[in-house]
Amino acid sequence: MSDTVLHYIGGQKTAGASTRTQDIFNPALGEKTSEVVLGTGADVDAAVAAAKAAFPGWANTPPVRRARVIFKFLELVKRDKEKLAKVITSEHGKVFTDACGEVERGIEVIEFACGIPALLKGEYSQQASTGIDNWTMRQPLGIVSGITPFNFPVMVPMWMYPLAIAAGNCFILKPSPTDPTASLMMADLMAEAGLPEGVFSVIQGDKEAVDAILENTDISAVSFVGSTPIAHYIYEKGAHYGKRVQALGGAKNHMMVMPDADLDKAVDALIGSAYGSAGERCMAISVAVLVGEAGDKIVPQLAERARALKVKNGMELDAEMGPIVTAAAHERISGMIETGVSEGAELVVDGRGLSVPGHNQGYFMGGSLFDHVTPEMTIYQEEIFGPVLSCVRVDSSAEGIELINRHRYGNGVSVFTSDGNTAREFASQIQVGMVGVNVPIPVPMAWHGFGGWKQSLFGDLHAFGNEAVQFYTKQKSVMQRWPDSIAKGAEFVMPTAK
Ligand code: NAD
Repeated sequence: MSDTVLHYIGGQKTAGASTRTQDIFNPALGEKTSEVVLGTGADVDAAVAAAKAAFPGWANTPPVRRARVIFKFLELVKRDKEKLAKVITSEHGKVFTDACGEVERGIEVIEFACGIPALLKGEYSQQASTGIDNWTMRQPLGIVSGITPFNFPVMVPMWMYPLAIAAGNCFILKPSPTDPTASLMMADLMAEAGLPEGVFSVIQGDKEAVDAILENTDISAVSFVGSTPIAHYIYEKGAHYGKRVQALGGAKNHMMVMPDADLDKAVDALIGSAYGSAGERCMAISVAVLVGEAGDKIVPQLAERARALKVKNGMELDAEMGPIVTAAAHERISGMIETGVSEGAELVVDGRGLSVPGHNQGYFMGGSLFDHVTPEMTIYQEEIFGPVLSCVRVDSSAEGIELINRHRYGNGVSVFTSDGNTAREFASQIQVGMVGVNVPIPVPMAWHGFGGWKQSLFGDLHAFGNEAVQFYTKQKSVMQRWPDSIAKGAEFVMPTAK
């Protein structure tokens, strides 16, 4: 068993004031591998004190020099990509190649953050009035925090801290206690890149640490990614304490398959996006909306492919799907499958009861496939967050669009069709934040920004991209006049351009 996973505060690993711990497991083996300390208010206060001390110097460092630290960090993450991916697989369970992909998508955001000098450029109006110039600049908020989920322990934190720090803030990360080891590896790489102590801290923990972050009025903003009930809680409580909040929540992503689509490609897309990472992705497709004759054609192929999935320890290179993250999640997903059966959906493939040789204690489950799911069913309404694909039959694209628009989640969506007008109408009418056309998981590139609609995002601004630069900075407007152009005498009317 390896060492206890600690906090990272002011450049030091420490247990701080924590007395509670949580066990960490390797889900493929079902064995405890380590434990993580769970932070207290005093630990958050210590991280805030370190950040307060570091902030003036870091905020005053020219953006181009801050960018150089991020450039160095980029090199180091590339160097250690496989080490990070191995840790992801050992604590989360996703297959190693997918874990490498996760780090790669995080790297893209670091690359974007390297452009911070250009991203912070302001706007300038010469001669706003005679002898007066007006410009805007963007300045860092101060201390900001990120609270992240278990399912992307490297990538989701990287949606936040590289850009927040490049913009001149100090950042406190509160990762998921389920797979926290990568957070300390990232802190070590930041230190190796030359980031001053106190600019980046990690507070491990659960609700106690989260509440301490929310209640701390020295922390100006919180970025959250996780489930919708917690996202809503963070949004409300963060706002109550005067914070800027972006809180990304859960999802129920649909993929609509038109009869004119290339059905073999649609099957490939559904299998990969429903069962990849055991369905534990916020952009996983969990509902196939099958239009007209696409249904009868596609379901038998989906069933065959779901039964043939290679479910193994994620470190085996031919594995297509690893275990479920925890025993509790395994039980919850199994319960949802039971609910689907009892509510009358047709369970075409039942992934429960799968055993993987040599991994009898592992939290494994095969892919499950439901057909004839209807909108009132629990398995349609709720996020299952597991390897379960529900097929809903509709008669037309209009019916499919209406169905999708009625759902309370609006994270990602996709349409498979060979008709340009169908695709165009779909993209225009759909009430979902991220849309794919013949692309099953349309995660936007780092410079476009990421965010869903409806109950998939509380707040105004998306993660990464230009909106994140806005989120982590505040605009200041400066209006300037030099003595030669100052008119004599007091002015009592509203100043206007002269
Ligand atoms: P979660 O909501 O349980 O946990 C997220 C974070 O909140 C963790 O750091 C956790 O420690 C903390 N937390 C948990 N319970 C809390 C409480 N009662 N009070 C305060 N803080 C609490 O989510 P998870 O299970 O780690 O991750 C899976 C969820 O995240 C899914 O719903 C998934 O859709 C969502 N997700 C969304 C996105 C997105 O971009 N929209 C991306 C990834 C994951």
